[in-house]
Amino acid sequence: MLEIMEPVETPTGPVSSTEWMDVAACAGHSDLFFAPFAERPEARVRREAAARVICQGCVGLSACRAYARGNRELGFWGGESESERAEAGFPPTTPIIGRKRVAEQRARDAMANAS
Ligand code: SF4
Repeated sequence: MLEIMEPVETPTGPVSSTEWMDVAACAGHSDLFFAPFAERPEARVRREAAARVICQGCVGLSACRAYARGNRELGFWGGESESERAEAGFPPTTPIIGRKRVAEQRARDAMANAS
């Protein structure tokens, strides 16, 4: 049975270090890590498989996964899809409407904070 853990409080910013972003293997590949509008299921499977390959070679994988879980991120982070994070008890807190815009802004903020 799926058990979903509720956040103690809604995160308002990064809840852990972002130093691992300096060595992110996904730099320049955001199209693989965030779904385009109206993505078809088959395309999502292919996109996430390609993202997973990149993550497996990333030295920041563990920290990235913890960050995404702690911040209830959208998109593919730390070798995990949104659905895999949700199954682990860390579903996104953002409503479905507007998720693409929020995901893009969060990614921009995260990369800007890392530089
Ligand atoms: S683990 Fe994946 S999503 Fe996280 S920084 Fe590395 S390549 Fe990017």
